[in-house]
Amino acid sequence: MAATVIDGKAFAAQVRGQVAEHVARLKQDHGITPGLAVVLVGEDPASQVYVRSKGKQTVEAGMKSVEHKLDAETSEADLLKVIEDLNNDPSIHGILVQLPLPKHLDEDLVINSIAPEKDVDGFHISNVGLLGTGQKSMVPCTPLGCLMMLRDHHGSLSGMDAVVIGRSNIVGKPMAQLLLGDSCTVTIAHSRTKDLADVVRRADIVVAAVGRPEMVPGDWIKPGATVIDVGINRLDAPEKGEGKTKLVGDVHYESCAAAAGAITPVPGGVGPMTIACLLANTVTACCRANGLAEPE
Ligand code: NDP
Repeated sequence: MAATVIDGKAFAAQVRGQVAEHVARLKQDHGITPGLAVVLVGEDPASQVYVRSKGKQTVEAGMKSVEHKLDAETSEADLLKVIEDLNNDPSIHGILVQLPLPKHLDEDLVINSIAPEKDVDGFHISNVGLLGTGQKSMVPCTPLGCLMMLRDHHGSLSGMDAVVIGRSNIVGKPMAQLLLGDSCTVTIAHSRTKDLADVVRRADIVVAAVGRPEMVPGDWIKPGATVIDVGINRLDAPEKGEGKTKLVGDVHYESCAAAAGAITPVPGGVGPMTIACLLANTVTACCRANGLAEPE
């Protein structure tokens, strides 16, 4: 039977609709407008696209959007000052520093200078610790989006075998924490994992967050398993015309879809959910800052 295609684009639109409704209520009932500030250092083209898209969707949801575009040569002190000002600005509830940062800036130092309650990316060490100990935190957007799609598809994830391929701080590790929180039996695989194919073959849920185009072939997938493809890889696509490119994930879509019970496409799967979760986190941060009930 053909795999169910998990439509992240449609799901994200639904989440954004809920966010917009919540924002409208915050404005109407409390006179509060949630505000998100995005800080971009340098001119990385992919980062510029993400930042534009985040700003646009923030405004569409009725929120205040602030963008700080800083020169690639910006000093650490100047960047920390921008963050400090945003930390102290009561109209800003969420702060996101677009990664990666230019090499001369200490990413950990910068992220840990964001007020944890405004850290809508969930990368601050306090939020990492809170998530790891099962306490209320800001949850990283990409893994949160993956979890929402899994819960929506399966209902309960309790007792399922999950394999997360990739152990980065922004995707793999928090994804594993979230799956553990939902009572999956979790394996984290990485570049040193032995017999990766056999490890993946045990999984009811496979989350691929590797950054290697189409690395996971269909014969690694247990029949009926759910495949969440986090990867975003741009490849040349001469078949579409000269100079054209295409996006592919970290799994080989056709062969994995033939084996899986459900799968997320690239594009249109995890990607749109990430920004929707960022907006949702900003509303959550705003509600917490004002002592109001959080969205479900
Ligand atoms: P990183 O490069 O930080 O981490 C990649 C992980 O994959 C590492 O843990 C690495 O292992 C592991 N890995 C590399 N090669 C192999 C291999 N051959 N076998 C098994 N594991 C391997 O990437 P990110 O986590 O930041 O991103 C992963 C992917 O997700 C990328 O394609 C990225 O573009 C995409 N992404 C998508 C987002 C979205 O919104 N959809 C958001 C963020 C990322 P080791 O630790 O041993 O080196």
